[in-house]
Amino acid sequence: MLKEADDSQLTDDIWVYAEYTPEKLHNVTGELLGAARGLAGHTGGKVCAVIIGQNVEKYGKELISYGADLVYVLEDDLFRNYNNELYTRALEKLVKKHRPKVFLFGSVFDRRDLAPRLAARLKTGIISECGKIYFDENGRLTADKTSFGGNFLGKIIFRDETKTSLVTARPGVLEGMYVPEHRGEIIRVESGADPADMMTQIREVAKLAKKAVALTDADIIVSGGRGVGGPEGFDIIYKLADRLNGVVGASRVAVDLGWIGFEHQVGQAGATVKPKIYIACGISGATQHIVGMWESDIVIAINTHRYAAIFNFADYGIVGDLFEVIPKLLEELDK
Ligand SMILES: Cc1cc2nc3c(=O)[nH]c(=O)nc-3n(C[C@H](O)[C@H](O)[C@H](O)COP(=O)(O)OP(=O)(O)OC[C@H]3O[C@@H](n4cnc5c(N)ncnc54)[C@H](O)[C@@H]3O)c2cc1C
Repeated sequence: MLKEADDSQLTDDIWVYAEYTPEKLHNVTGELLGAARGLAGHTGGKVCAVIIGQNVEKYGKELISYGADLVYVLEDDLFRNYNNELYTRALEKLVKKHRPKVFLFGSVFDRRDLAPRLAARLKTGIISECGKIYFDENGRLTADKTSFGGNFLGKIIFRDETKTSLVTARPGVLEGMYVPEHRGEIIRVESGADPADMMTQIREVAKLAKKAVALTDADIIVSGGRGVGGPEGFDIIYKLADRLNGVVGASRVAVDLGWIGFEHQVGQAGATVKPKIYIACGISGATQHIVGMWESDIVIAINTHRYAAIFNFADYGIVGDLFEVIPKLLEELDK
């Protein structure tokens, strides 16, 4: 067993765990690096990105353009599919060696277990799903976190300054900045991956979603709620989304009822989105939904109930049955 992290001095460096899809860096990575630059401005340390996988060095340059001064690359065939035990072990070794002050993670759907597990290994604290991250007037790392459905804003402060502080943030919450002329260094690290660390083995990754849902990248989102009436009710939502070159979102009720997959959910327990246009169809406007979409540039709501709360957050409101309104919209768009 590895020795527990000792209390020797932490560095002033701020680390980011780099998320990526098979095709590209995940947006949240740039956003975390943006936040890391802000924190490093306070500590005077370096911004470091850590990327783990197979053939991932190709992302190094882009990570530097998003603000990394150093990129640690851990490549190994064993890292081909995400494996919590292997990835945690690799990060644990790296953190214990380099002792960063803060380590930021994206709270992405299939990797939410990584940061908490690492925190347990390091016997340190973690703030999950935070909003703003900053050093307060006393120089203590602080993160804002909403609770009770977005009705309260808490400030959570790390008190133990002898241990690396772990923080996770959801995609779309922080601001990234792309600076192509930023310079940095890529460092390949011995992976140290050992099959003996794997309690589970992933044999195959099957994609169940009909089409990848890039909610957080989308310019236009058409979302359906309980008002669509059933899984077949989403056909018309898909039609409008396709016509507008957008993607389909959903309220939690629609997801919980099994009408559409979780990857479409917008809101407190789903994705936080900031599209140019958000069209809410048959969605009442519960706080837990609103916190996920209120930063959209333009919100259009279609609802049969003229006093539905969603109209309080809409730039344009249409009181009517979505099954009558959407076909008319499609007709107009065809013109
Ligand atoms: C801890 C927690 C986390 C949560 N996280 C989320 C989350 O991430 N995302 C989320 O969405 N919710 C979340 N919720 C649930 C949330 O509180 C609401 O229950 C949910 O958002 C309501 O979904 P809805 O608007 O589709 O359904 P409803 O509230 O039932 O509203 C349906 C709306 O459709 C309208 N309607 C009905 N028929 C039509 C029609 N034919 N045409 C037009 N309009 C019609 C009705 O007037 C009504 O306003 C969470 C709740 C909790 C407690």
